[in-house]
Amino acid sequence: AASAKYLTGDGAGIKDFLDKFDTFLFDCDGVLWSGDHVFEGVPETLLLLRSKGKRIVFVTNNSTKSRQDYVKKLAGMGIVAGPDDVFGSSYSAAVYISRILKLPPGKNKVYVIGEAGVEQELASEGIPFIGATDARFRRDITPEDFAGLADGSLLDPEVGAVLCGLDFHINYLKLAHGLHYIRRGARFLATNLDSTLPMHHDIFLGAGSCSVPLANAVGEQPLALGKPSQAMMDAIEGKFLLDRARTCMVGDRLNTDIKFGIEGKLGGTLHVLTGVNSKADWEAKDAIAVPAFYADKLSDLRDCA
Ligand code: PLP
Ligand code: CA
Repeated sequence: AASAKYLTGDGAGIKDFLDKFDTFLFDCDGVLWSGDHVFEGVPETLLLLRSKGKRIVFVTNNSTKSRQDYVKKLAGMGIVAGPDDVFGSSYSAAVYISRILKLPPGKNKVYVIGEAGVEQELASEGIPFIGATDARFRRDITPEDFAGLADGSLLDPEVGAVLCGLDFHINYLKLAHGLHYIRRGARFLATNLDSTLPMHHDIFLGAGSCSVPLANAVGEQPLALGKPSQAMMDAIEGKFLLDRARTCMVGDRLNTDIKFGIEGKLGGTLHVLTGVNSKADWEAKDAIAVPAFYADKLSDLRDCA
């Protein structure tokens, strides 16, 4: 049966674990906090890791917020960080578009289904975009829209990519624009494919559930740029000059965080049991990913003698 090493509160095991790594990539929701509630002992644990010379990077799939938004959120939780300590799925998408995709002039606009976090990160990379929070897309579709989308007169000829993140104002008009851009050759990208968004001890629709209608209509899956996409890992490696063997991914979700670390051939993965997945999920025969280590909660790492 699949097994991971349990990091109990006893000092020795945790010290050995910490000694293996220089850098920790931390998933946020489900590891550091749940919604707006920071878990007990987390700020102190991060301080302790930093005092031991460990580098910490916050790696989140939340596409609705920018790195700057995360700095504020972290500060509100008592965690000091700068924008360069954060790597989110919207930023990952922006980096991919500007540095890998390199859309040609005249075809370099991005049509966005998503919230302000995507806009801010595209702007940070100097990428022109339309859609997103623009009120002109937050309305019912009309007969004139159907005609204008079909004959292309409503479409911006400079759009070369469609980027889909979580959009709390998703509607038929927005999806129809995405469909017609992709039909005319735009690349189909997604910030992340999380099927669900855990909130209030229940689930809601995640970013992945926003791109599904579009994927279904175009008959093509988007290229996703959040965890577990290795495009994100490569971008993190490039930015932080990672030694993968000395890096550990810490997360609560197997199909994003733990898969991300394993496929990225990191030195280790740590599953904490304060979020989406339980121990039984990786003990199961058909487990998506099995972590190298697990702990009941992040603050258990404090107990290193
Ligand atoms: N997407 C959205 C919109 C979220 O609000 C969250 C959590 O807050 C996530 C994804 C998952 O984030 P993480 O990767 O930090 O668990
Ligand atoms: Ca998480």
